[in-house]
Amino acid sequence: MDKFFTQTNCDRCGGTLKAGRIMSMYNTDCLCMTCKDKESKRVDYDEAVKADHEEIKKGNYNFKGIKGQ
Ligand SMILES: [Zn+2]
Repeated sequence: MDKFFTQTNCDRCGGTLKAGRIMSMYNTDCLCMTCKDKESKRVDYDEAVKADHEEIKKGNYNFKGIKGQ
């Protein structure tokens, strides 16, 4: 199975993923909800989401995020 679904700790803070996991919009980090919450408050978050959606529209479902290329 994909590392994303099997790892038990957040890539960013090392905290537990028991409360839930979600992929970063900036790269392929697997984040805990606390880090995702912090990420979503970044000033360039909208830009990251938009870039991700643009890639999906183009058919690229494996976009690594604006900071992960
Ligand atoms: Zn975290």
